[in-house]
Amino acid sequence: MIPFNKPFLTGKEAHYMYQAVYTGKLSGNGVFTKKCQQLFEEKYGFKKAIMTTSGTDALEMAAILCDVKPGDEVIVPSYTFVSSALAFVRQGARIIFADSCKDNPNIDPDKIEALITPKTKVIVPVHYAGVACDMDKIMDIANRHNILVVEDAAQAIDSYYKGKPLGGIGHFGCFSFHETKNVTAGGEGGLLCVNDERFIRRAEIIWEKGTNRAEFFRGMVNKYGWVDTGSSFLPSEINSAFLWAQLESLDTIQARRKEIWNMYHEGLKDLAAKGCFSMPDMPDYATNNAHMFYIVCRNLEERTKLIAYLKENEVLAVFHYLSLHLSEYYKDNHVGEIPELPNCDRFADCLVRLPMYYELNDEEVKKIIDSINELFK
Ligand SMILES: *Cc1c(COP(=O)(O)O)cnc(C)c1O
Repeated sequence: MIPFNKPFLTGKEAHYMYQAVYTGKLSGNGVFTKKCQQLFEEKYGFKKAIMTTSGTDALEMAAILCDVKPGDEVIVPSYTFVSSALAFVRQGARIIFADSCKDNPNIDPDKIEALITPKTKVIVPVHYAGVACDMDKIMDIANRHNILVVEDAAQAIDSYYKGKPLGGIGHFGCFSFHETKNVTAGGEGGLLCVNDERFIRRAEIIWEKGTNRAEFFRGMVNKYGWVDTGSSFLPSEINSAFLWAQLESLDTIQARRKEIWNMYHEGLKDLAAKGCFSMPDMPDYATNNAHMFYIVCRNLEERTKLIAYLKENEVLAVFHYLSLHLSEYYKDNHVGEIPELPNCDRFADCLVRLPMYYELNDEEVKKIIDSINELFK
């Protein structure tokens, strides 16, 4: 069976983890944490990069930093992972779900303004499949209404909007290094980017369990203590050591993933032209970081058939999100009407992801393409 995902090992992970163990500094904010953070700050120009234990944690930190309080409203696309909404729900926010674009699962920027009320505090654009949302439109709306923007860039490492790295455009950007992402911190990990200087000092405090420990280590204060809210958001050095090995090979990883993506695109374009399904939409302003290769079937039945057919042919293809506005949790906890979000529901029913990982070889990609062509013949 060709799996859907397989985490890639560069071969240096164990070496760096061993180094972290034997230098005797295992807790967070050591050499490897700082190396990873510095790479993101230097390579992508993020003002402040902070390693976290997961992408979910990075979103939770952002929600605290946005000072989201009970009753505040947060606009989130419904076609996303639970954490994009949950991080704000934990602060007492009311989630206002927005629909996807017609051609891709990203939040439709033209439908955001109608959802804004005096209580709107944050907009959370999710760069689905690592493809940029239309950030100029979103930042313009946010600035005019004095709203903060938290980019859920969990899938968007090394991807750009009009030349600007994703995660560095909104007030905050949140990345994930879960084992299903392009690079991993040994299974779980994340990064918070703070792009607005006003929030940097508080971000470090929340990261360090509500203490000003970071300032103490820089010699800015002569003792440290409890000054704010926070939690244990910083990962162990072992996780950062693992991630460092992967970041050193980022260009190699990205290049191979893009090759696979292009093979799929080339091999399936005739069926797409015939209207059997649609291909991933790449707006002019976005780059492709090959996080994912998906196609959108015409309906749920055809998608079910495709997934079953591929399984018979030893290929594991999978669907993705269920609409969050139709989830059990939201049904039981929402205030007001449940919105109708047809584009979101269509992606929930019709989108299917094909295997995508570094070690997937050309023969396997060809086999997957041939199977799909065979089914639609
Ligand atoms: C993976 C993912 C997350 C959560 O990241 P974790 O590191 O698993 O907590 C959040 N949002 C999106 C869009 C994701 O793909």
